[in-house]
Amino acid sequence: MAISEQEIQNIVRNVLQNMDTQSKKPEESKNLMGIFENIEDAIAAAKTAQKAIQPMPLEFREKIIANIRKKTIENAQKFAELGVEETGMGNVGHKILKHQLVAEKTPGTEDLSTIAWSGDRGLTLVEQGPFGVIGAVTPSTNPSETVICNSIGMLASGNAVVFAPHPAAKNVSNLAIDMVNRASVEVGGPENLAVAVENPTMEVSKVIFSHPDIALLVATGGPGVVTTILSSGKRGIGAGAGNPPVLVDETANIPKAAEDIVNGCTFDNNLPCIAEKEVVVVDSVADELIYYMEQAGCYHANAEEVEKLTNTVFVTNKKGQQTLNRDCVGRSAKVILSKIGVSVGDDIRCIIFEGDKKQPMIDEELMMPILGIVRVKDVDEGIATAIELEHGNRHSAHMHSTNINNLTRYGKAIDTAIFVKNGPSYAALGFGGEGYATFTIASRTGEGLTSSKTFTKSRRCVMADAFSIR
Ligand code: NAD
Repeated sequence: MAISEQEIQNIVRNVLQNMDTQSKKPEESKNLMGIFENIEDAIAAAKTAQKAIQPMPLEFREKIIANIRKKTIENAQKFAELGVEETGMGNVGHKILKHQLVAEKTPGTEDLSTIAWSGDRGLTLVEQGPFGVIGAVTPSTNPSETVICNSIGMLASGNAVVFAPHPAAKNVSNLAIDMVNRASVEVGGPENLAVAVENPTMEVSKVIFSHPDIALLVATGGPGVVTTILSSGKRGIGAGAGNPPVLVDETANIPKAAEDIVNGCTFDNNLPCIAEKEVVVVDSVADELIYYMEQAGCYHANAEEVEKLTNTVFVTNKKGQQTLNRDCVGRSAKVILSKIGVSVGDDIRCIIFEGDKKQPMIDEELMMPILGIVRVKDVDEGIATAIELEHGNRHSAHMHSTNINNLTRYGKAIDTAIFVKNGPSYAALGFGGEGYATFTIASRTGEGLTSSKTFTKSRRCVMADAFSIR
């Protein structure tokens, strides 16, 4: 049964009339739609918005999503510039491309499918319904990209979402939330389909993680937050850390492998979790690969520079643990090199060095355009080394080879959510590769590249003894 435009407007009006959440907003956040002072108010508003969206036809959800896509393209540059300015990380040009990718290739309602059985005893359907209100934690590395991508997928499946953005990226994340709501309201949909608070903190996240009105938690971030949501007692989707190795064997097209690896590694200054983080190469082609990587814009650091880099890239925190220096994460190769007193031109995109697999800049996930290169005697040692470096994250791995058996053996053995063969890592996001885009790759909990159907629950609908016309 089709619902007319007028009926949709009536549903929205009725729901909005019952809402008094707007009046609870502080003066300074009144201009940003969906941004509240208090997390309880934010969750209540999302709950109301979800009740408004759920009865609406999929066609109407698509109308809202089409407007989100349009506004994302229009504002891609603004989000890219603000993201770099606020976090100090990434590359404006690449961030524009990431927003365009999210707008164009994040699946909408077409992703939802139905399974049907019919026979003598009638017709049974399994359909994918919304969870209700979802709590979603988002990272500093792809802040507005993840907010917009999650919003499209979660709204397509009939949910509303309460975001817990990374505090270091709260302004750009909240601006993206505002845009999602404006896109909805402009086409006659409800406000507060996506919400957050002005000042996201760990305390705010704790409320979200234990709130009775939140049915599903989705975390895009490092191991800490993924473990936290998986320990919450609620259903959790964990998109965690990776340390993607790229393996190059002696059968690879070496000049192309070098170019692809440098392109993938340097995209948005290595912030994407799927990006090449270290190279494992068979000895017989290692020199040739390094030569072509230098041709592709790599600075080859010597032993002394590697030591200085290691001491710069890692810092000791208050608890005495070694952690990443946030002033290096997502910075360009030129900026990182300047921190150790090396001055290079803009043509230098990446820093390479040879090292042992235990070298911390190889072993740890850096999120900087620094690529350690580990030599191995043959592909078997290469597969074993890459598996060790991936640390069982089961996130992403890449390979350059023309030997189908080697590709197959590595793919099976490393068992990651993403495995790119003979291309830059970003091909996995649908950028220069087939398939849809997402910035939430549920490596840890196994959903893989998330899309609208990931945010649904299965519902069986049975018609007994009728509707079978076989
Ligand atoms: P982060 O882990 O520092 O922060 C991610 C989010 O989790 C933030 O919103 C932060 O406030 C929150 N958070 C962190 N610890 C928490 C805790 N104990 N309780 C509650 N909330 C907590 O990550 P980041 O630096 O913003 O992003 C980089 C990390 O995220 C990398 O490890 C990267 O691989 C990973 N990542 C994974 C994916 C994926 O799709 N699998 C995508 C992007 C980033």
